[in-house]
This record gives sequence, C-alpha cells and structure tokens, in this order.
Amino acid sequence: MDSLHFLVGRGQELRDLIQSPQHRNPVPAACRDEDVHLYHPEDGERPAEGPLAVCVGCGGRLECLALALRAEDPETRHGWYGGLGPADRDRIAARLRLPNGATPLPDRAHTAIRLGRDGWRVNDIAQALGCSRRTVQRYLRSVR
Ligand code: SF4
Repeated sequence: MDSLHFLVGRGQELRDLIQSPQHRNPVPAACRDEDVHLYHPEDGERPAEGPLAVCVGCGGRLECLALALRAEDPETRHGWYGGLGPADRDRIAARLRLPNGATPLPDRAHTAIRLGRDGWRVNDIAQALGCSRRTVQRYLRSVR
C-alpha cells in the first residue's frame, strides 16, 4: 500500500497542523515506550517493520508528521515521522507547496519534543540529551 495513503483527503488538515499546531490537543505518541533511535537509523536505512507498524496505529501520526514538516530543514531531512521517511516528506512538502523558510530545529529538539509529549520532565530530558534545562524548555516552547 502507498505509504501516503493515510493522507488522502487530509491535505488541508495537515497544512493547518503545520501552521498552527497549538490549535489541537496533544495526542500521546504510540511509540512512547519505544527506543527513539529506532526511528532514526543510519542514513539511507529504513526502520524495521515493527516500529513502523506502531506509527500506522498511532493517534498522533498526523501531528508527528506535521512537526517534522514544520521544524526540519528541507535540505537535511532524516528520520521517520508519522511512519514516513525523508523522501516521502519531500513529496508531501512539494505537494503542499510548503515554504522553505521554516527555522530548522536540531535533531535533539525533535527528541526533546517527543519525550516531552510522553510526559518526561525537563530535567530528565536535559540529562538524557546532555543539554541544559533552558535549551530543553526552548525546544518545548517551539511547539506551543
Ligand atoms: S507516528 Fe510519530 S509519534 Fe506516532 S508512533 Fe510514529 S514516530 Fe511515534
């Protein structure tokens, strides 16, 4: 099946989420108990089917994809969000005609945001990522 099938008819919803993520209540990530590194394999590798199957059943799939499309640098996309890899996100960004002017967030910001949604405390996120509390708070504010 086309990996983009779940987006059929949801283009405007996705666009709205990219532009105004704060207008929707957060949905728990289905991968909250998974190792986040499963979704960020080495360049060019696809995650195992197990983690990607978790994405298919995730209630926050569209939000997860919107976060990546909003925050990542289009020139350096990597990792899987919403079950979709960099090539699929390129296709979606082109279809939606997204501007390239978004301020990119570093990789660890995506991880911090994901952990924050899973209920991790700022202190714990900072310790896990090896950065300051202030940095973690800045990452978390970027999606409020
Ligand atoms: S769609 Fe995103 S939040 Fe949901 S399980 Fe997949 S990686 Fe996690």
